[in-house]
Order: sequence, then structure tokens, then C-alpha cells
Amino acid sequence: MTDTYAVFGNPIAHSKSPRIHAEFARQTGQDMRYAALLAPLEGFTETVLAFRAGGGRGANVTVPFKEAAWALCARRSERAELAGAVNTLKFEGEEIYGDNTDGAGLVRDLTANLGVPLAGRRILLMGAGGAARGVVGPLLEQGPRALFIVNRTADKATTLAEAFAGQGVVVAGGGYDAVRGAYDVVINATAASLAGELPTLPDQVFAPDALAYDMMYGRDTPFLTFALAQGARAADGLGMLVEQAAEAFFLWRGVRPLTAPVIALLRAA
Ligand code: NDP
Repeated sequence: MTDTYAVFGNPIAHSKSPRIHAEFARQTGQDMRYAALLAPLEGFTETVLAFRAGGGRGANVTVPFKEAAWALCARRSERAELAGAVNTLKFEGEEIYGDNTDGAGLVRDLTANLGVPLAGRRILLMGAGGAARGVVGPLLEQGPRALFIVNRTADKATTLAEAFAGQGVVVAGGGYDAVRGAYDVVINATAASLAGELPTLPDQVFAPDALAYDMMYGRDTPFLTFALAQGARAADGLGMLVEQAAEAFFLWRGVRPLTAPVIALLRAA
């Protein structure tokens, strides 16, 4: 019987995940189907449970349900526990297991696809929402020299930084007026690009050969335009999207798909 999976979000029509997983399944010969399903804002849990009752084997979860997905799980991976957010569900009988593959996806895109090592680097992470929470732990595991988390609501950045203090890396947080010095990697994990906005960054924020990474994908963003004008390299979040999907696929199917051809396919589309 064909195994079924889905991604739940609201909105969800724009999702590229069905295309990505269909490519992974074709490439690895897995007998599975994957759909994008809209969950009502007040009915996430019921929608997921109905999907499981109908034979679903697992699911991805996107905005705005990652925290609700975390609460739904009886067991979670350590990285999901630390993130306080779940983007991948695996149904194991009556039990729901939760993982968060966003951070691993970002790290893999930065290091393997873009060739940017993170060890010893200075990283500036913009944003303190769900996406930022999911990537702090995996970024720190790479052993950067320092990580500064900056957010419009400064308190949220400070609280997030405090949650990850004491792991041998200097982690601090604050508002945009507290950004000092130059960074080797600047990651935009805010939703500002969605609104065509750019949080104010100092002109000297990019170190020589710095990479600017916008988690948003599919269009030019003010952040990447600013970064290019400052002489930085620029990358969007399409690679992260495909890499986090590959990590979820591996959790469900035990097979690791090739990501490069799928990233190329989506770029060409
Ligand atoms: P959340 O709603 O949880 O958080 C939004 C964050 O953006 C908050 O830190 C918020 O600051 C900040 N923000 C929103 N608008 C502005 C603005 N105008 N100026 C400055 N800061 C702003 O969203 P997520 O964290 O879930 O998602 C963030 C982005 O990451 C989205 O664009 C999403 O599409 C993308 N993403 C991409 C992924 C990929 O695979 N490529 C995976 C996951 C997310 P405040 O706290 O002050 O409100």
C-alpha cells in the first residue's frame, strides 16, 4: 500500500514540499504520496489526528503550527526539544514523535552546498521567532566564534540567547541598535522580507567575504539587495528548504535522497 504524508500549514497552497518529496520518492524508489493540506487556525490538532486516522504515516508542519506540533508529541528529538518547535511528525502506532529538521537543513545548505564553514566564524542571526529558535542549537554545534541574535523585539533575542548560554560559544542577544562589529555570516530569519522590509543594519556589518543568507526564497529581498551592495555574497533559503525536507524524508524512510538535483530543479522552475 502507498504510504501517505502531508505538510500542514495555513496558508499552504504555495508550498513546494509536495514537489520536493515527490522528487525524493522518485529518485529513491519509495512508494509514497505527499500532499499539502490546509489546517484551520483553530483546528491543527484535530486535522493532524484525522490524517493519521486515515492512514497517514507522518507529516511536516509549517507556519503557524510548529509550536502546536511540539505540544502534540509524546516524544521529541533533542534538537526539537531545544527549539521548542517541531516541523516533522512521525506516527508510531498511537505515539507521535517530533523532530525539528530546520537547523540541520540550514547548516547543511551553508556548509555543504554553499561551502561556508561555520567553525570559528562570527554569526549574526536576525529574528527570534520559530525559524530562529530552530537553528540556534545546530549553528552552535558547528563551533562558531560568536553568535549574536538580533530582533525587533529585543527581549525575545536576549531570552533566546540566554537559553543557549554556557555551551562554550559566546551567545548574546539584543535589538538592532546593539549590533556591533562585522560578521562572517549574517542570517535573516525574520519575516521582514515577506513584507518587503529590511531591518536597519549598520553599513559595516559584513566582514570581507561574508555570506548573507535570507531564509526567504523565490524572490529578491531587500536584505539580499543590501548585502550585495555592501559587497557580501548572497544566498536565499531554497537550499535550506530542500535540505530540511531531505532530513525529514530520512527520518520517515531511512533513505537519504540527493538534494542537489532537486535544488537545481526548483531553481529552474
Ligand atoms: P515568526 O512569525 O515565528 O517570527 C517572525 C520573526 O520576524 C520575529 O523575530 C519578528 O520580530 C521578525 N519580524 C517580522 N517582521 C519584521 C520586520 N518588519 N522587521 C524586523 N523583524 C521582523 O516566523 P518564522 O520564524 O517561522 O519565519 C521567519 C521567516 O523564515 C519566514 O520568512 C519563513 O518563510 C522563513 N523560513 C524559511 C525556511 C526555509 O526552509 N527556507 C524554514 C522556516 C522559516 P518580532 O519578534 O519583533 O515580532
